[in-house]
Amino acid sequence: MKLGFSPDEEVFRAEAAAWLTAELGGPFADVRGLTSLTDAPERRRDWERRLGEAGWSCVGWPKAYGGRDATLAQQVIFAEEYARAGGPPRLNHIGIELAGPTILAFGTDEQKARFLPAIAKGEEIWCQGYSEPGAGSDLANVRTRAWREDDDWVIEGQKVWTSLAQFSDWIFVIARSEEGSRGPKGLSFLLVPVDQPGVTVRPIHQITGEAEFNETFFDGARTDAANILGTPGDGWKVAMGLLGFERGVSTLAQQMGFRNELDAVIAAARTNGAAKDPLIRQRIAKAEIGLRLMRYGALRMLTHAEDGKLNPAALTYKIQWATWRRDLGELAMDVLGQAGETTPGGDYAFPALPNLFLYSRADTIYGGTNEIQRNIIAERALGLPREPRGDLK
Ligand SMILES: Cc1cc2nc3c(=O)[nH]c(=O)nc-3n(C[C@H](O)[C@H](O)[C@H](O)COP(=O)(O)OP(=O)(O)OC[C@H]3O[C@@H](n4cnc5c(N)ncnc54)[C@H](O)[C@@H]3O)c2cc1C
Repeated sequence: MKLGFSPDEEVFRAEAAAWLTAELGGPFADVRGLTSLTDAPERRRDWERRLGEAGWSCVGWPKAYGGRDATLAQQVIFAEEYARAGGPPRLNHIGIELAGPTILAFGTDEQKARFLPAIAKGEEIWCQGYSEPGAGSDLANVRTRAWREDDDWVIEGQKVWTSLAQFSDWIFVIARSEEGSRGPKGLSFLLVPVDQPGVTVRPIHQITGEAEFNETFFDGARTDAANILGTPGDGWKVAMGLLGFERGVSTLAQQMGFRNELDAVIAAARTNGAAKDPLIRQRIAKAEIGLRLMRYGALRMLTHAEDGKLNPAALTYKIQWATWRRDLGELAMDVLGQAGETTPGGDYAFPALPNLFLYSRADTIYGGTNEIQRNIIAERALGLPREPRGDLK
């Protein structure tokens, strides 16, 4: 097992770091250090295009589609350097981390050529149309319908919690395409343009004051018959493949962003004297240990990933980081004390640490709640018996 990076990988790191420092210290200094998912969308769109132009947008993708053929270790290195340089949240993170890898895995050659370069070049932004009011953890319960009409698929229904739909050009949708079907059967995975009369996007305001996510209504929306991933009625397989990307590689590199957040909490504790409180000191030490464990855990998983596949241990990662970050949010508030409960200027724009606390409440929900993650670990990693699943056969 090698818990580190090779000299060649360090050369890659130096190249990435130099490029990021030059761009984020120069023409893109205005987006450096942003933490909000909704701030400065136009400049972050420009940033997506700049990354794409220089081949740094989707480093793990094949060169033919705008990537760099980077290994898993190099992908993690890039993400680490991105966080270290203060890169802003990626406006197209759903396109890059979810839609793109799924199209690569399940798409036809025509679909790959049509969609992947546009994502890699930052020209088309994507969002995810999975959850519905009655289908979150129980995703197989989706009710949105789709049917063929002439050369199109027509879509009717409602999605909810659609992150960044207001900035998106495309949405991938799981819809029931076989009437009378139930559970995971009879679903199709469709790629649908957002900007059309049949799609309405309505913002939902979150506890942070931002409106990152939305309700998305489909009222006779259309997409070309060719825009289906996999075969009609067999979309569940594609939908589950995508969740593997959501909970796998893309989360391995997050510790560097977490490092920045923990450092900010430590700096606040030093400044306001909270660092002298023995209980706060203990919790900071515990957070530091948790962070280092996550980092070595990620490196360990990478050493087993040389054939491109992640070790089943990676299934534990989502619950580990989500819980760690939720605790960090609580620690941040305890460090700030009363100051954490006020918003300067009286508006609803929270400073970074209270915002971290409020946002971290969502970490144990999206991408699969902690309860669902425990089921996944029990069933898929440990091979324990499946939990009873009602009438789904
Ligand atoms: C910030 C944020 C962004 C999001 N972005 C998107 C997006 O872009 N696109 C999208 O499609 N969705 C998105 N979601 C939705 C997210 O995927 C769902 O919230 C999540 O899957 C949980 O579903 P739910 O909210 O319907 O809760 P429910 O499924 O109703 O769960 C409620 C509670 O019951 C528990 N529970 C449910 N079933 C079981 C079980 N079998 N065993 C044990 N406990 C169980 C859950 O763990 C949870 O505690 C986002 C959510 C958040 C918070």
